[in-house]
Amino acid sequence: MVMTIEKAASIVVRSLTPNKPYHVQWMLTRKCNYRCKGCNVWREQDTKELSTDEIKRGLDILRELGVIEVVLSGGNPLLRNDIGEIIEYASRFFITTVYDNGSMAVKKIDDLRNADLVAISIDSLNPQKNDYVRGVKRAWCKAMEAVEKLHEEGVSVSVSPTISQFNLYEILDFTRYFINQGIPIWYALYSYDFSNHQDRLFKIGKKDDEFTIVDKEAMVNLCNSLIDMKKKNSNVLMTTKLLKAVKNLYSTGKRTWECRALQNFFVIDHLGRVAGCHLHNPVASIFDLPKAWNSPKSNALRKTYSKCTQCTYLCYIFYSLHGSVLGNFQVAQEQWKNAKLFLKKNSVKPLSLVKRQ
Ligand code: SF4
Ligand code: SF4
Repeated sequence: MVMTIEKAASIVVRSLTPNKPYHVQWMLTRKCNYRCKGCNVWREQDTKELSTDEIKRGLDILRELGVIEVVLSGGNPLLRNDIGEIIEYASRFFITTVYDNGSMAVKKIDDLRNADLVAISIDSLNPQKNDYVRGVKRAWCKAMEAVEKLHEEGVSVSVSPTISQFNLYEILDFTRYFINQGIPIWYALYSYDFSNHQDRLFKIGKKDDEFTIVDKEAMVNLCNSLIDMKKKNSNVLMTTKLLKAVKNLYSTGKRTWECRALQNFFVIDHLGRVAGCHLHNPVASIFDLPKAWNSPKSNALRKTYSKCTQCTYLCYIFYSLHGSVLGNFQVAQEQWKNAKLFLKKNSVKPLSLVKRQ
């Protein structure tokens, strides 16, 4: 979509307002049509979810709280019949990113036209490897078709691989392949999320599974290569600051950031429960959040979370590093060339993605 002046101005104002949450991930549904090996969402599906009106009311609350960016995920958010209406409403106020595992985007392309970015999950250039991770045959073909079709139709599309031990050694080739064709990349980082919180929003992985990154040196080398690549190609959407923080974590085991869960970012589940991140118990319903946001309980949790080192989810690290006035400025500086993603469409060049199975 073309960003309106009003939306851009309102985002700038919210970006420059301190002590506000900047980023929210809303898992709109707990239904999923895939069976990804490292994910438990599909094993814990739930047919209950908020109504369209409840979600719109929740989005109004997020706007009042000063949120800038909303990521709509799931399950697969495109399984909701009202997803077009939700995206249209969200995109009036927020930079709106929508996730799809690649199975639904072509069917729902008209619903996606208002999104600022559609992120398609693809984990490998090898169809068999990708389908093994996804647990579904032809997942790779559908995802590649989705990227091609969305790009052709002028919908801003990116690919989003989850870096794990399983695909670690091919991430550089994967990155080169897409960025050379003008498709931006935003990574996720596999993290097994052990937690004692019984009521947490969902679980990922099993201890010692095949996805846990064990080759730390390779991870450090990958970060170095991506930092170099970023100098020449702005389609690597991660910031240098984020890449350096991840590199440092894998080379020294030390974190150069404090977690800002429930400060700069939070998550909402399909029932409207709000938590600092998906590993911790919910703190409030979205409808009670304005009251709960500045409560002593929330303030105490912020302090606890700032010392937490339980996960290495990339988006949580990103918003811990960047979700502030200064952080937003740094992102804007570094991603200036990517403003075209949000501010206006480029002329669309046809893709030549690899031959499908
Ligand atoms: S990772 Fe995403 S697409 Fe895969 S099963 Fe989980 S929710 Fe579904
Ligand atoms: S480090 Fe932050 S995002 Fe990760 S589990 Fe702890 S509080 Fe949650």
